[in-house]
Order: sequence, then C-alpha cells, then structure tokens
Amino acid sequence: MEGFFTAKETEMASRPDGKSYSCVSCGMYKNVNTPRMKPFGNFKKKIMNIGEAPGEVEDKVGKPFQGKTGKLLEYTYKKLGIDLFEDCININACYCRPVTEDGDNRSPSNFEIESCRKTTLQYIKEYKPKVIIILGNSALYSLIGHRWKKDLGGISKWRGYAIPDQDFECWLCPTFHPSYVERSDTADVETIWKDDLKQAFEKAKEPFPKYVEPTIEIIDDLYHLTNIVGIDEFAFDYETTGLKPHATGHRIICAAIADKENHAYAFMMPDTKAERQPFVELLANKAIGKIAQNMKFEHSWTLVRLRTEVQNWVWDTMLATHVLDNKSGVTGLKFQTYVQFGIVDYDSEVSPYLKSKEENNANAINRIQEFIELPGGKQKLLRYCALDAIHELRLANIQRMNILPF
Ligand code: URA
Repeated sequence: MEGFFTAKETEMASRPDGKSYSCVSCGMYKNVNTPRMKPFGNFKKKIMNIGEAPGEVEDKVGKPFQGKTGKLLEYTYKKLGIDLFEDCININACYCRPVTEDGDNRSPSNFEIESCRKTTLQYIKEYKPKVIIILGNSALYSLIGHRWKKDLGGISKWRGYAIPDQDFECWLCPTFHPSYVERSDTADVETIWKDDLKQAFEKAKEPFPKYVEPTIEIIDDLYHLTNIVGIDEFAFDYETTGLKPHATGHRIICAAIADKENHAYAFMMPDTKAERQPFVELLANKAIGKIAQNMKFEHSWTLVRLRTEVQNWVWDTMLATHVLDNKSGVTGLKFQTYVQFGIVDYDSEVSPYLKSKEENNANAINRIQEFIELPGGKQKLLRYCALDAIHELRLANIQRMNILPF
C-alpha cells in the first residue's frame, strides 16, 4: 500500500522517524570554501530551481550553477526564454560541496540531504515560489522523500508531472538533472528534458489550483441513494476484508459513491439484502455509467458478495493511467492523487489496517475490523473510502480530457 506520512509527522522534523538532522550532525561545512551556500538569483518570475550540490567551481565562486553543468542549464533556459539568474532563485539539495577522498565532486548521501532539508523547506516558505523545478534524484529526495512512505523510485518515474503540491502551495516539476542530460548521448533525453522545462515555465504563469474539499455524506439508510437514480455516471469504491472475494469469511465492509467531483455518499455495507437493495439497483442500472480504480476488483466483489453484475462500466482510472503513461510504478491511486491534485496524505491512518499480517496469502483477512473498532474508526474509514471514490471521479474527468478528442 503506498501513501504518505501525515503533515503532523513531518512538520517539525526533516525525517519521518522524528529525528531532525542539521549542519551539526553532518559537519561538512567545516571542510569547504563556501559553507552553507546561500540562494542566488533575482527571482523575477518566481521560479525556484533545486539542483544537487555545489561542485568545485561553485564552491570557489560561492554561488550555485557556475560550472559546466550550470552553463548547460543557463543556456537551455535562455533558449526557452528564461534567464537562470534573473528570473529564478537557485539552490541545491545540499548546501556544501561533497567530495570524495581524492577531492573530486560526488553526489550527496541521503543523510547529507536530510541534514539540509530543514533549510530547504525554510527557503520555500520564505521565497514562496510559483514553481519549483526539481533537478534530479537528490532534489527529489529532498522535497518528496520524507513524505512518500513507499519506495520513492527515481526521477524517471516522477519527471514530467506538474504537481500542484498543496503543502508547499506551488507547482513541483521534477525533471532530469542537467549533468544526466549532458552525459546522455541520445537526443530523446534532451527533448524530454526541454519539454519538461517548457511545461514548468508555463505553470509559472498559471494560477495555483487549490484543492477543493469535498462534501461527504455518511448515510445509514441506503434509501438516500435513490436521489441519484437519474444521473449519467458515478465512481464507486469498496473497502473489503481482503483482496479476493471468494474465500470464506470475506465481506465488503463499506462503500462510497462519488456522484459529483465534490460530493460523495459513504455507508457501511448493510447485512440484509433488503437494506442493500437501493445500492444494488444502482449498480445494475444500465443507464448509469460506472467508474472505478481497477474495476476488476469492484466487479468481482459485487458479483461474489452482492450477487450482482455491475452494468455499464465506462472508465477504469488505473487502466487509463497505464494507457496515458506507460512508466512503471505510476498507476496507484495514491500516487495519482498526489501528482494530479497535490494531496500528500489522506490514507496514512487507515492503510496499515488494509494489509493482512500474512503478506504472501492472497486470501488472508486484513485488519480492517480492528480499525473500525478504534474510537472514530468507522467515520475515518468511511471518509477514506469516500475520498478514494472522489479522487477516482476527478481523475477520470482529467484523463478523459487528455485522451478523448472532444
Ligand atoms: N551546480 C550546482 O550548483 N548544482 C548542481 O546540481 C550542479 C551544478
């Protein structure tokens, strides 16, 4: 299960385990010409670039992006209409020059980046950029590494998205580091890099899209669902006791229906057929289109546990993500919710309970029952389920705008 640490877990610490590293923990500042290099640039277009670390030239001059790699960045930006030092503010994921035993430049370690993270977050608060261009893996680790619980992956997975990050209140645009482009001998890398940069520069002109909090109606009586009988389509989502519906003891715990981008109904699945009837009728209604993330899951659980075949599937957000973007590791709903809507956390409380203790048994029962018995657990689970359904509907709408020629 992928997901993020909560804001609470990260706001005071630069590391998710609660430890916060600093210059004192790292000590690199003692051995360089320019300790704790300061941001540089006139920031006229409110673009912040985050590189990796100062190299030999930068350490001598005392400013970022002064050497050969910096020149490539400056030249490429100029060709795209942006002056690196007039229009941007420039920093690095690491503020001192890391060197090898032989005195050569090297990439900073994760520990060194973590030691600088607090300063980086402080600069973002201070400068309030419209766009942050994340240049390569070190910058990616600096800005996202402490919030993404699962394997972060590399820049190739993240590049190309313009993320409306709701924590930083600005666009995050990850792309390749210029030294990677310099080293690469295929023209594709440079073309992709320039496209990413163009997109980022365009974002600096667009208003920042604030996430709109949806309304979630928690209902006890499914009769309320008859309100939506006339609609064209909805997205729906289940929370269940496991992955596969057939094994004994499994059941659908709750469901949510997003009928609009800003509205969803959520409910515990009733035990009796009569109480479930309004919901089952909606699923069997051929006039209403259905949307889900991995529809095979909702389809089979409905078939096995509610003895109903869902009619009129119109969109699967997981399949569509794969069609739109065949990179690996990007089809998960939590990943898409972050890269498309900038929401870094809505699942961290629930997600540990959706896993079973027996990792290799596909028929195992998870810990969801434990979660709903916690104080407020039921409400939290329903909210989580509703947000999944809402994000599915919002995602489906974005995808259809991107795929369909109308
Ligand atoms: N110069 C910098 O300041 N940072 C980099 O990442 C590369 C060159």
